[in-house]
This record gives sequence, structure tokens and C-alpha cells, in this order.
Amino acid sequence: MRPHEKGKAMKIFSILEKKKINQPLSKDEINFVVENFTNNKITDGQMGALLMAICLNGLTREETSHLTLAMANSGEILDLSDLGLATDKHSTGGVGDKLTLTVAPMVAACGLVMAKMSGKSLGHTGGTIDKLAAIPNFKTDLAPDVFRDILRHVGVCIASQSANLAPADKVIYALRDSTATVDNISLIAASIMSKKIAAGAETIVLDIKVGSGAFMKSLPEARQLAQVMVDIGKDCGRKMSAVITAMDAPLGYAVGNALEVIEAVEVLKGEEKGEIRDLSIELTAHILHLAKGLDLDKARENAAGVLDDGTAFKKFAEMVEKQGGNTEYIHDTTKFILPRMTALPSPQKAYIQAINGEICGHAAHICSAQNTDLLSGIIFGAKPGDFVAKGQPLAHLYTDDPAVAAQALALLETAYTFSDTPPEKTPLVYEVIQ
Ligand code: URA
Repeated sequence: MRPHEKGKAMKIFSILEKKKINQPLSKDEINFVVENFTNNKITDGQMGALLMAICLNGLTREETSHLTLAMANSGEILDLSDLGLATDKHSTGGVGDKLTLTVAPMVAACGLVMAKMSGKSLGHTGGTIDKLAAIPNFKTDLAPDVFRDILRHVGVCIASQSANLAPADKVIYALRDSTATVDNISLIAASIMSKKIAAGAETIVLDIKVGSGAFMKSLPEARQLAQVMVDIGKDCGRKMSAVITAMDAPLGYAVGNALEVIEAVEVLKGEEKGEIRDLSIELTAHILHLAKGLDLDKARENAAGVLDDGTAFKKFAEMVEKQGGNTEYIHDTTKFILPRMTALPSPQKAYIQAINGEICGHAAHICSAQNTDLLSGIIFGAKPGDFVAKGQPLAHLYTDDPAVAAQALALLETAYTFSDTPPEKTPLVYEVIQ
């Protein structure tokens, strides 16, 4: 071993010793770990031991912010300052969550720039990139200069995360996945925020989902994650807020890639008035409030206005065109030729008490046969609180394969609970953390 390699081996050993006895690591030590693990100079065994010590002993706010910046700085940091007020949103993921498709063009229609780099689906939740792939020819794999050019001309672009966006997070995430160290709040927050910081927006609004269809199952857990992420963003000089929103039943009426694009288009055209519209207005308003200092009620009015006067839909159509997508499918959604539908009849005459979002997410994945069929999914005809007659369709599954439909149907019916009395109404937005 050469002398400098010996020095490195000693340094990682002393860092592991320190974290084992719960002493905070310095910025220099965290930078050393991230840089040398990304360059293969620290072994998986050493990094795995450190990640486990972090899970057992935690990270301070300072350590978490240093870790985030070290991961963000491992690749390119986009500079969007020449484009105007650049904003970003991030959802921790939910079933039927198509809010990026609505909020991004709404924000652009309100005069800001929404520079959105999105991921693919994770677990039982869908990913924006998969949903957009349902629009024929739509490209999300964009060169940085194309991304910037679309932002400059349209004000909104939704692209896949580039390979050079926080590469340290990719290798650390892969190791977390194989060492049972994914579910630590500081590691989750640093992982997500490293990509947000690298993506360059000055204003970031987080949508932290909580409930049976979300990764965070309880409000205290969601609140903690929200606070850690907001603190990191502020420590890195960003304007931050986190909206904690309900994710018990699936959001809106559609789950499935093309089906969700259709629902988003209806909201953008001002035709659909349900919870997707309400949440889109709320999230857009928080972005306008944070970026422009607009009073929240005025911001909500502006957000609703761009849905009702067609400007948000126009922005979406412009973005689809610039990203190579066939806009005919957006102007006329009947062009999507959907698979055969199978109804799930209600087993009783009763109120729907609850619909378990996670089960619905898994049932939708079964319909899409491991996500290869972009047109399959579920349309919900009734939601919690609705009174249904025996035999009335609760939902329709879309898939051409009868065996797949039977399997998904058997799972989907376990998602429902019923009651003789109307269930208590729960809020869509629990709280906002700033
Ligand atoms: N999403 C991420 O990007 N990272 C995590 O650690 C968890 C969810």
C-alpha cells in the first residue's frame, strides 16, 4: 500500500470509529467519504458500516446538510440564474399522483420557470417519467442545452435526471438498498435534496405525502422528513417549504400512466374539478408565494385562473410539442386506445369507508404487467365517503389480459372497507412546514 493510500485507510477507519460512538463528523470527513466512495477508494464494506452506524446513531442537521452538498457536488450543478425565477417541486411519491403534470405548466403559465428533473417509478408509486412516456414520441432524455432551451422558450420542461446529477447519490443509494439502510430520514432527505440542489432551482416546494399509499405512513414521520428537507434546502441557500398532503386513497380518479395523463389534461383544461385541481392550485400557490412573495390567497386565485382561462393547458401542449410528443393525443385524449375494461362490483350497499392506496398501487402494477403496458391501470368510479349500491362498479380495471384482470381484481377488492355511516372527512392538506 502506498503512503497516501495508507493515510486514506486510516482516515476512513477513524471516521467509522467516530460514528460508531455517535460523535458528529466534520464537513471535511463527510466530503472525504463521499468523494472516495464515489471513486471506489472506500469499499462497500466500509461504506455499508458507516451507513448502518448512521441508521443507529443518526446525523445532526449540520452533518445532513454537509452530506447533501457533498453528494450534490459530486456531479454537475445546474446554473439556471439566467432564466428568471427558477422553481422546482418534488413529491415523495403517491398512488395516482399526477401533480407534476398539472403544477409544472401552471407555474410556467403564472410567469415563473419550472425546471423539473423527474425519476422513474419507485415501489408501488408511479413516476412522472413513466407517465409522460405514454404520450407517443415524448422525449425525457434531453441534453442539458435542449433542457435549457425549452425552459427559455416555454418556461417548463420535464426531463429525466441526467447521469451526472449527484452521481454519489446513485452509488450510495444502491448500497443502501442492499444493506437495509434505506429507511433513515436523514439519508432519505439528503438523497432527495442532493438531486434538488444539483438541479439548480432557487425555489423548491416539497409535497410530502402521508398515509396508506405513501412511504410515510404517519403524520409525525412525515413532519420530521419535511422539516429535515426544508432545513437542508435553507442551509444550501434555497427558498423552501413543504406541504404535507393526504395519501390514503389514490389521488384523483386514475392510476396508470396514460390514464393519469388523461386526467391531468382534463384538469389543465379546467374540465375536472376534483382533488387533483384543488391540490394543483394549492401547490402552485405555495410556489408563487415563495418565489414571488405573493399573498397566498392571491396566489391561489392566479393558479385557478390559469386553469380556467386555458393558459396552463397551452403551456403543457407547448412543452409536449418541444419535447417531441404527439400533441394530437393531448388535444383529443380519445386517441389513446385503452385496453378492455373489467368492473369491480360493490359487494354491499354501504358507504365506502376507506380505499387502501398501497394495495391500489400494487393492483395497477399487476395490470401493467411489470410496467410494460403504458395504457393499462385503474379508473375509480367511487371514492371514500361515497354511498354505493350492491353491484355498482367501484372501479374499472384496464387490461387486455383476462388472467391479469382476474389477479388484479382479487387484490383490488381487498383495498376497500365499508361502513353503514358516512366516514369522517379528512383534509387534503395537513400542514405546511417552512
Ligand atoms: N427517493 C430518493 O431519491 N432517495 C431516497 O433515499 C428515497 C426516495
